[in-house]
Amino acid sequence: MSTLAIKNLHTVVNTESGPKEILKGVDLTVNSGEKHAIMGPNGSGKSTLAYAIAGHPKYEITDGSVTLDGEDILSMSVDERARAGLFLAMQYPVEVPGISVANFLRTAKTAVSGEAPKVRTWVKDVNEAMAQMNLDASFAQRSVNDGFSGGEKKRHEIVQLGLLNPKFAILDETDSGLDIDALRIVSEGVNRYTDQGDRGLLLITHYTRILRYIKPDFVHVFVDGKIAEEGGPELAERLEDEGYDRFVKAAAN
Ligand code: ADP
Ligand code: MG
Ligand code: MG
Repeated sequence: MSTLAIKNLHTVVNTESGPKEILKGVDLTVNSGEKHAIMGPNGSGKSTLAYAIAGHPKYEITDGSVTLDGEDILSMSVDERARAGLFLAMQYPVEVPGISVANFLRTAKTAVSGEAPKVRTWVKDVNEAMAQMNLDASFAQRSVNDGFSGGEKKRHEIVQLGLLNPKFAILDETDSGLDIDALRIVSEGVNRYTDQGDRGLLLITHYTRILRYIKPDFVHVFVDGKIAEEGGPELAERLEDEGYDRFVKAAAN
């Protein structure tokens, strides 16, 4: 079993009006085989948590730790984090003009596994992963995220997830901007990944609707830079009925 452990994580971002603390002591443990949902209102720091774990230079860690099987993730380069088994799909994926999807996927796979994938099986794997996401084969020749629709970006993320098959996946707002068919296809891709049984998922979302397709084992309510409430899937149902108001008010007191 593998464990991703976040302990007392504090981060600061430098804004025009000076440094601002965004994460205010996050504690969260994800074991392989577990699906965790982080839910919370806009601006509560959910994406900051994903960026901090990813090693985005804008977010300074001022306290706490993130470890993967006891190894300090925060002292690793972004590449090392990926090789250690972390996958982070970002809410606003960057454009990589001039690099085709096919090249990007191959480069990423090579970087993560330490050797170039075998050509014949790789082409088959890529075609299969794209077909599962309802992406045409010609998609592989397009530049990464260049002119992709919101749905295509998300599908491309799930293609990456399937091909890289990391120990832990952190998906930020994977459901945003998806129509109902795309949401189902993307969710099926995530479920194929977790159905392997020994993977860990941290699904960050603002809306409860994706949780109709991806059933979390644990739900964490994120308010004002930390976890305000934790529970099982029933907590997501309560949020669907009640919204975040109660937790936001409680956090403000
Ligand atoms: P969420 O993903 O929950 O909507 P974010 O993590 O995106 O929340 O943002 C949390 C807070 O931190 C917000 O108030 C946001 O404006 C602020 N913030 C995040 N990143 C930056 C940044 N790079 N510069 C300034 N403020 C930021
Ligand atoms: Mg603290
Ligand atoms: Mg966000």
